[in-house]
Amino acid sequence: MTSRTELSPAQFSAIRQALRDRERAIIEHVLQQPEYPPLPPCPECGAVVEQMDSAVEPPKFEVDEQAFLINVKPCGHRFRAVVDLDETP
Ligand SMILES: [Zn+2]
Repeated sequence: MTSRTELSPAQFSAIRQALRDRERAIIEHVLQQPEYPPLPPCPECGAVVEQMDSAVEPPKFEVDEQAFLINVKPCGHRFRAVVDLDETP
């Protein structure tokens, strides 16, 4: 299993904020690809990200936390971010 880099809650919320802003810009300006604004850069290497996949980590028995798994391409870095349940938007 490839190891994932743990993101701090602050790093993760910055990424989510950037993604929300990007989505809003796309909707507001009715952008079509390839006019889409860039995705936030890779938090590990700073590379330009062309694709960012995120998924909720399947819950583990008796582990009371929610985590997201994030894969970025093309650099291939993988991240895990634990969400503070008190701050779930
Ligand atoms: Zn990277």
